[in-house]
Amino acid sequence: MTAITNHMPTAELQALDAAHHMHPFTNNNELEQKGARIITRAKGVTLTDSEGNQILDAMGGLWCVNIGYGREELAEVAARQMRELPFYNTFFQTTHVPVIALSAKLAELAPGDLNHVFYASSGSEANDTNIRMVRTYWAEMGQPERKVIISRKNAYHGSSVGSGSLGGMSGMHAQGGMPIPDIHHIDQPYWYGEGGDSDPEEFGLARARQLEEKIEELGAHCVAAFIAEPIQGAGGVIIPPDSYWPEIQRICDKYGVLLIADEVICGFGRTGNWFGSQTLNIRPDIMTIAKGLSSGYAPIGGSIVSDKIAEVINACEFNHGYTYSGHPVSCAVALENLRILEEEKIVERVAQDTGPYLKEKWQALADHPLVGEARIVGMMGSLALTPHKESRAKFAADAGTAGYICRERCFANSLVMRHVGDRMIISPPLVITKEEIDTLAERAWASLDQAAAKLK
Ligand code: PLP
Repeated sequence: MTAITNHMPTAELQALDAAHHMHPFTNNNELEQKGARIITRAKGVTLTDSEGNQILDAMGGLWCVNIGYGREELAEVAARQMRELPFYNTFFQTTHVPVIALSAKLAELAPGDLNHVFYASSGSEANDTNIRMVRTYWAEMGQPERKVIISRKNAYHGSSVGSGSLGGMSGMHAQGGMPIPDIHHIDQPYWYGEGGDSDPEEFGLARARQLEEKIEELGAHCVAAFIAEPIQGAGGVIIPPDSYWPEIQRICDKYGVLLIADEVICGFGRTGNWFGSQTLNIRPDIMTIAKGLSSGYAPIGGSIVSDKIAEVINACEFNHGYTYSGHPVSCAVALENLRILEEEKIVERVAQDTGPYLKEKWQALADHPLVGEARIVGMMGSLALTPHKESRAKFAADAGTAGYICRERCFANSLVMRHVGDRMIISPPLVITKEEIDTLAERAWASLDQAAAKLK
């Protein structure tokens, strides 16, 4: 077989890809008809595809390339670590320097008494860890019946059987026997799409109080934890009304229900603080981390755990772990990524400089006739597409058609935005410059214009 390289014609690469590569979350009819877009290189916020097109990646890959593409420092650290100690496990009373250093750094960055890290290779695995950890915690505390985890409809917490069950995506639950028992879902705090004529703050309170109703219905003695993202990402960047989180926190405190903040997207500067829990004023018992932890340069995830839980879990032998828990190369890369985020004051820039600039440009898109809502926190934002702004009406065609058309127009205009139904979402690298933000906004507006013309 001839070597398969970047230099092969795109069509040949696409044919081989379609023949042998099974893609995640992909419409395969479309893949076979059009072929996959082949990304060959990336630098900063810009992707290059196999046809030489330069594309502004307003999704940061999959919400993860926080420091931007092409940072040599990470490549060097990875190569050095691979030469020195490419792998050793952390099972059976063994450790290594990269995992020690990363854990100490995360304990320093994380709020409150979140001082202990259990590693995984991904957010899905980390959320699976959380299921077992909170149930083990309550069993060790003499309350083994506390098994239920409450989550939200339309949440995304990963694709494994456990984390997919925590998620509340009906399309996922329809495949492969999910959710597993003892996972319950309440409604999401999505005022724009589900709030009707209600006042947003009243709606936020009502949605939070569904947690209390669910706990009362099941019995607090059965409920182990509540899990949610501070701001729901893959569900469509759903920014909750201000009333929502304080009420959720009150309810968790009242019933002693553990609070798991899934920070896989919100963590590492995305919302203008190190963690979304700080932006939204949440006091979690566990935070799920992944993605921005290494800016996607190496697979790594984990759970940052409070003193209270770690004390109980460490006192028993927690029969859980992954071969790659605390992988030395991933830990070294993550540590270097955190150094860059910190030394280049990237989180501060999101809060005080480029974040507010992006907010101004993003909110101006609300003036477009197709846009009913343009919201953003830090560098995660969404647009709701609507045929009628005042009534917040949905499109009569299949949900998602408008979003799909808009996303296609974005691609044609060298901009990666994603659509969730008829919501357009962005999560650009945090290092995006003001000039690049201008380009993003211009291309988004042009794409909206073209989508509006097609939808007429
Ligand atoms: N949690 C959230 C909030 C996510 O957005 C994701 C992935 O998008 C996950 C968990 C799963 O992470 P991974 O894809 O690394 O398994």
